[in-house]
Amino acid sequence: MLEKFERYPLTFGPTPIEFLPRMTEALGNKVEIWAKRDDCNSGLALGGNKLRKLEYIVPDAIRSNADTLVSIGGVQSNHTRMVAATAAKLGMKCVVVQESWVPHEDAVYDRVGNIMLTRLMGADSRIVEEGFDIGIRKSWEDAIQSVKDAGGKPYGIPAGASVHPLGGLGYVGFAEEVRAQEAEMGVRFDYIIVCVVTGSTQAGMIVGFAKDGRAQNVIGIDASATVDQTRAQVRQIVDSTAELVELGRTISDDEIHINPDYAYPAYGVPSAATSDAIRFAARTEAMITDPVYEGKSMQGMIDLVRKGFFPEGSKVLYAHLGGAPALNGYAYTYRNG
Ligand SMILES: *Cc1c(COP(=O)(O)O)cnc(C)c1O
Repeated sequence: MLEKFERYPLTFGPTPIEFLPRMTEALGNKVEIWAKRDDCNSGLALGGNKLRKLEYIVPDAIRSNADTLVSIGGVQSNHTRMVAATAAKLGMKCVVVQESWVPHEDAVYDRVGNIMLTRLMGADSRIVEEGFDIGIRKSWEDAIQSVKDAGGKPYGIPAGASVHPLGGLGYVGFAEEVRAQEAEMGVRFDYIIVCVVTGSTQAGMIVGFAKDGRAQNVIGIDASATVDQTRAQVRQIVDSTAELVELGRTISDDEIHINPDYAYPAYGVPSAATSDAIRFAARTEAMITDPVYEGKSMQGMIDLVRKGFFPEGSKVLYAHLGGAPALNGYAYTYRNG
């Protein structure tokens, strides 16, 4: 589906798919739990899902003759870490706006984890006092203007690289990669679990899996707690990406499955059940998930298995998108494990 698009490699290549036997057993052995490890996808600054998207955006950035990548996220944004890494790798400069998306309590929240790595890689990281919003932000437009004012050539990448016209392609590639691995392994996954916030990860998967009739089996677990905006953004990226890759048909609303039940109490704030899910994954499979994103999709998967949402015998593929560095910003919450 992606033959006509240029890709700049930032990742190691196809990510491993592994069976999770202890988690499967602890959840009653009725469904098989597998994971696709996009958290281990690259040597660039601990990797993660944003690199798959950026691989299709970088050729455009290079063609534009830009000298500075400009992006935006929260204070503990994985995405801004990945943009900073990409800029360092390309020999470009980087400006990232870090908005105050999370009402945090930890004294070192704005000094450790993602933001520390971002600063280590030389990005100009600017903290601003704006609340959570996945849309196009004035603070980002101001940052782009500030680079121009200083005589630089900015290339803007929106939050999560999602509403960028090429932002959905990376996860179309994920679906193609899964199909190839399924053929090799002789398995077929019935459901794919994915955390959703800015939307292009799930949207790309939906378009990619639409090709073999599995779009509606991509179960998005919302972590934004502003699910209407997330759903609208996914819808829009699904449409633009389907057109871009010439899918040849429209994806219906029924094929866009987003579950809003686990995002509470707010973006970036773990509920007790989120923290239990993080401990469960760590103690059964040594698989590290974070309180902002994967802890919530893990919580959702566990709850859906326990509720019998997946028919017995299903093979469930958990897409692990990364995010562990943010845990450092929650040192106080997890001080006792
Ligand atoms: C960005 C991110 C997500 C959400 O992906 P979107 O494309 O923004 O919906 C999930 N998990 C991790 C670790 C992320 O960094």
